[in-house]
Amino acid sequence: MSSSDAPSTLPTTPASAPAGPSFAELGLPEKVVEALAGMKITHPTPVQAAVIPDALAGNDVLGRAKTGSGKTLAFGLPILKRLSGTRSKPKHPRALIIVPTRELATQVRRSLEPLAFAARLKLATVYGGTSYDRQIKQLRAGADIVVATPGRLQDLMDRGQCLTDDIEVTVLDEADHLCDLGFYPAVDALLQQTPAGSQRMLLSATLDGDVDRLVRTHLRDPQLHELDPNAGAVTTMDHHVMVVGGFRDKVDAVTALVEANARSIIFTRTREGATELRDALGERDIEAVDLHGNLSQRVRERNLHKFSSGKARAVVATDVAARGIHVDNVDLVVHFDAPNDAKAYLHRSGRTARAGESGTVVTITTPRQLDEVARLQSRAGVQSRHHDIRTTPRPMTSETLAESGTEAPAVRASGGSGPRNGRPGGRSQGRSQGGYRGQRPTYSERRPRRDRDDRPARTWEDRPARATRDERPESGKPAERRTRPGATRPDGKKARWSADKKRGTGNGARRG
Ligand code: ADP
Ligand code: MG
Repeated sequence: MSSSDAPSTLPTTPASAPAGPSFAELGLPEKVVEALAGMKITHPTPVQAAVIPDALAGNDVLGRAKTGSGKTLAFGLPILKRLSGTRSKPKHPRALIIVPTRELATQVRRSLEPLAFAARLKLATVYGGTSYDRQIKQLRAGADIVVATPGRLQDLMDRGQCLTDDIEVTVLDEADHLCDLGFYPAVDALLQQTPAGSQRMLLSATLDGDVDRLVRTHLRDPQLHELDPNAGAVTTMDHHVMVVGGFRDKVDAVTALVEANARSIIFTRTREGATELRDALGERDIEAVDLHGNLSQRVRERNLHKFSSGKARAVVATDVAARGIHVDNVDLVVHFDAPNDAKAYLHRSGRTARAGESGTVVTITTPRQLDEVARLQSRAGVQSRHHDIRTTPRPMTSETLAESGTEAPAVRASGGSGPRNGRPGGRSQGRSQGGYRGQRPTYSERRPRRDRDDRPARTWEDRPARATRDERPESGKPAERRTRPGATRPDGKKARWSADKKRGTGNGARRG
């Protein structure tokens, strides 16, 4: 759990507005309450106050609350209470917590493990990309609670290493993300295999589409807890757009931003982009780590730890890392490459301003993509201040950003890269696209590699068990290349970085 990595950090936020009962008063095991207190967690957050009593009563629960509101403990604590006092048989866990990504599995484990330990319960984590041996060992040792990604879990069930007869509770955490990643069929099948009368809890930021189908199929009379995103928490997220002349300016902008803010997460579109930006920051003496699907699980965990422990001040990540990862006190989120859509924008941005903290979000864009960014933000329901990197005062702290810049320009139709009104400075960015070429040839001239777009339909490690080892998943929109003849680069060689930016989707299979 990240709170143990960053001891001083937990704001006494929604949690400490003790409107309702304390954890002890909710009837949780004493040892667990003590362990919570050791983590400075004494009063439930609103979502916990709402969900815990209901879950303890054995009801199915449907929860919608924003990220950082404390959902992990909302479903985790009732499970501990329910299971404590008895043990699971080997290979017969009694609770399943299904999550979309390995990172999230690790995170949930970190949050719950010390508490499970206090309740004398065993927790196993099951996800793809790592060896089966340890996971099988844990299951055989009688894991009570299994935190799992769907693909590997199904795989272990198929191998007879994880049996579902004794399952009393199943949780779908981030159900919307599970569905986004194409896990609907897998999750649907997993739920089918759990006992019909067992308790089910589903947490999700949205409750429509496939999530709605899951709810209707698998939840009985669910108690709905929709927490007003703003209730209780005085979270503030400031959004900014930073207009830069070209690619090199983007790196300058990130550098200035990261230097002025203690802890930052920067999002790139591709895996290689993430690694390259990490290196570029390194060249500028900024300790950064990368986080994406090209890295082994071990390296991902090590990098995430470097960041959460404060060794690295920035993490450069692809969207794979955008959901569910909770690191305390992230001051700044930078969209180095614009996200695919409004939803991705919100999820990336949601890495900051968690648990009642405030946070700053900056989207870096070239003039050419400004309209698109503005449209995306308006779809996301976000109001931002616009800045021109040439005139933005330094250091670029959240305060200076809040006090400089202008209100967002009106959304306009896109059309070439010529001068526009309404942008800060009111003029063209003044440099031709080519003006940036050659200054950092090793970096800026690199052609974006669409084939390695790190925006998978699902994390490939967690693909359904039937796929063979060597298969990479298809991108979500494989046919797009053919349908957009205009996307072909004229010379196929000196393509501008920006030329492909708008696409934001991979084509076909990615390479390993
Ligand atoms: P969510 O799943 O809703 O995004 P998490 O469960 O990851 O949120 O919790 C976010 C952060 O809030 C974690 O660092 C967690 O330790 C902390 N937290 C959770 N519950 C409480 C509480 N009752 N009091 C204080 N901090 C809490
Ligand atoms: Mg969560």
